[in-house]
Amino acid sequence: MTTQTIGVVGAGSMGTGIANLAAINGFNVVLRDIEEQFLENALNRMSKFMDKSVSRGKLTEEQKQEALSRIQTTTQLEDLRDVDIVIEAVIEDLTLKKEVFSSLDQIVREGVIIATNTSSMSITEIASATTRPERVAGMHFFNPAQIMKLVEVVRGYKTSDETVEELKALSIKLAKEPVEVKKDSPGFIVNRIMLPQFIEAIKLVQEGVASYEDIDKAVKLGLNYPMGPFELQDFAGVDIGYHVMEYFKKEFNNNFYAPPLLLKEVIRAGRYGKKTGAGFYEYE
Ligand code: NAD
Repeated sequence: MTTQTIGVVGAGSMGTGIANLAAINGFNVVLRDIEEQFLENALNRMSKFMDKSVSRGKLTEEQKQEALSRIQTTTQLEDLRDVDIVIEAVIEDLTLKKEVFSSLDQIVREGVIIATNTSSMSITEIASATTRPERVAGMHFFNPAQIMKLVEVVRGYKTSDETVEELKALSIKLAKEPVEVKKDSPGFIVNRIMLPQFIEAIKLVQEGVASYEDIDKAVKLGLNYPMGPFELQDFAGVDIGYHVMEYFKKEFNNNFYAPPLLLKEVIRAGRYGKKTGAGFYEYE
């Protein structure tokens, strides 16, 4: 079946980016979050993102308005009943994701793929909340979804070959490069490689070996990465790394992955608002 309308659940950083990407590439979008305010913020962020594309000559003002007009926002999950595929991007919490998948399974048509943008969690576990595990898979975009080229298409235990092929084809229609993750393994490819780097970087600061600035500089110049580990964690949101570390610790039964104390301090300080430390650099 041809996908015309994409349902996106969660209008945070990733949901907003995915909705924006889909609309720019000609798809209709139904974007759901739990509060009107979050949806309004999402539309503002998309509009600003597209303004930049217009000023760079990559998009016309008319194309921007057309893309925005293809996006319907809603606080009601039932409004996703007619979509051709769903991409879930709520927070990284397995219980919540399973609740969302169980509800979606009741709402969307039989055979519709329900994909998750989880950064790390088990696709098999998430799919177990549905009656259609063969139509559940990971579709892991990177941040910002409008720009980053990669999509990891991740198989759960029961994911069908057709589902994988359809998600790869959709990724290409969204101007992305898909890779297939053949087994449901925590963190898939990129986060499995990246997380130990985050942990070691935080430990280097804790041990007084180097500053955030020098570690970021060393990684950018020495490994030719576009961003250092602290810049990247602050950009993605430090809580994501924290949840993934906790998940890896539990799944691999390995305390190496336990979130370092400094990360916990940064997250606690962040609860008091941006100025008192929502990220490593602001915590200093
Ligand atoms: P976020 O906190 O920015 O956004 C999550 C959104 O989900 C919030 O707007 C929240 O209100 C909404 N939400 C919560 N419960 C909901 C529900 N029941 N229905 C609909 N919306 C609900 O998080 P994010 O950074 O966008 O991450 C979303 C997912 O994408 C997570 O699984 C995360 O691990 C993954 N991811 C994040 C990044 C990143 O760099 N931030 C990259 C790749 C994947």
